Amino acid sequence: MDLKFYNTLTRSKETFEPIDPANVRMYVCGPTVYDYAHIGNARPAIVFDVLFRLLRHVYGENHVTYARNITDVDDKIIDRAARDGVSIDELTKTTASQYHADVAALGCLPPTHEPRATKHIGDMVAMIGQLIERGHAYAADGHVLFDTASMPDYGKLAKRSLDEMVAGARVEVASYKKNPTDFVLWKPSDEGQPGWGSPWGRGRPGWHIECSAMSAALLGETFDIHGGGIDLAFPHHENEVAQSRCAHGTAVMANVWMHNGFLQVEGQKMSKSLGNFVTINELLRTKTFGGREWPGEVLRLAMLMTHYRQPIDFSIKRLEEAEAKIARWRNLFAEAGEGGDAADAQAVTEALADDLNTWDAIGELDRFASSRNGSALKAGVELLGLEGALAAQSAADIDVDVDAFIAARLAARAEKNWAEADRIRDELLEQGIQLKDGKDPATGEPVTTWEVVR
Ligand code: AMP
Ligand code: ZN
Repeated sequence: MDLKFYNTLTRSKETFEPIDPANVRMYVCGPTVYDYAHIGNARPAIVFDVLFRLLRHVYGENHVTYARNITDVDDKIIDRAARDGVSIDELTKTTASQYHADVAALGCLPPTHEPRATKHIGDMVAMIGQLIERGHAYAADGHVLFDTASMPDYGKLAKRSLDEMVAGARVEVASYKKNPTDFVLWKPSDEGQPGWGSPWGRGRPGWHIECSAMSAALLGETFDIHGGGIDLAFPHHENEVAQSRCAHGTAVMANVWMHNGFLQVEGQKMSKSLGNFVTINELLRTKTFGGREWPGEVLRLAMLMTHYRQPIDFSIKRLEEAEAKIARWRNLFAEAGEGGDAADAQAVTEALADDLNTWDAIGELDRFASSRNGSALKAGVELLGLEGALAAQSAADIDVDVDAFIAARLAARAEKNWAEADRIRDELLEQGIQLKDGKDPATGEPVTTWEVVR
């Protein structure tokens, strides 16, 4: 089956041709770990997880390599650790494990590799050395900078003119730069800052070189797909391309560049000052958004209801819509079971094969639910990473005070009112909760346990 993806590099939808179908390689820029990830950060994690699942489905589970890095050296990390009086190591470890818990709750598979920048400093130093040797970088004032004038097609990915790039965001003006667009590959570290020895003195890498070095180490000099949010296209990805191509002398870094659109909340940019800033953790585990907690699969589906390249306007209404869809699928699946023809799920694969058309894929799931095709529904739901949607509800989702029912039943049994005890048992069963009578192994006392059966 042909997969078609929109490639930012060529501004067109192209048929995907992996360099090696036995090992399809993709890299996605991961989080900088200094604070909880927000729901905007959840979007690339989810979108590229769907892509990972699609590639595994088409090329085989063991024929796809997905690397998503963790940036654990960065000025934001240094500042936050100082502000909170914690060590950098502690801050990055805690934040990385929060991130893992969050994305796992959103149904994202762990990537094949999750490189940490601080474990690849040697690769970065080597790559910077290579750039200097090939005349693409220069040392100045304790820094090493990439010489953008040395690369004739610098700006190609972002399709920006030099003037636009100079005026563009995040481009710092500094006296030691030869050209205003030159960017930092290495910078000096003070006493208290994390630093590593290098031919240019004790220092630390710039952000862009991290991804160039880690992707080359894990996926090779040229690989298939590079992803991230649209805000990263310039300057981050432009600079990754410049570093990688110039260091390796290659014509391309990644063949396909894919970018997800931005998430806004209730029509506005998400920002702390507007008070509409929501972390994944808050949405899933606190009552900050809409006065209640939301299951991970609801957030995931709410994201996938918009095509990944479009901006999302995030709202409570959208979460409610996603939740209603899931409830419908879950109920129909509970009734219909795994009847029907799983082969129909091919329609979901085809929708995703068209530049990840998740909206059409979701439409197919609705269709399977209507035609009571439980097996296709299950297969399609899995391809979208929404397994949680059909799984038996967890204890936390059950809105019944099971313990009160158990106590009432025990009281009835103590009075030998068997009819009432059985009535309580059956009433719970109707709500999907099965009671099991047993004995406490320690005390020999009768105990009743329960499990969710649908
Ligand atoms: P950062 O930690 O800012 O580098 O972001 C991590 C990832 O989340 C990058 O791929 C960003 O492009 C992406 N991202 C950040 N904010 C948003 C947003 N509001 N909507 C969608 N993606 C975002
Ligand atoms: Zn990156």
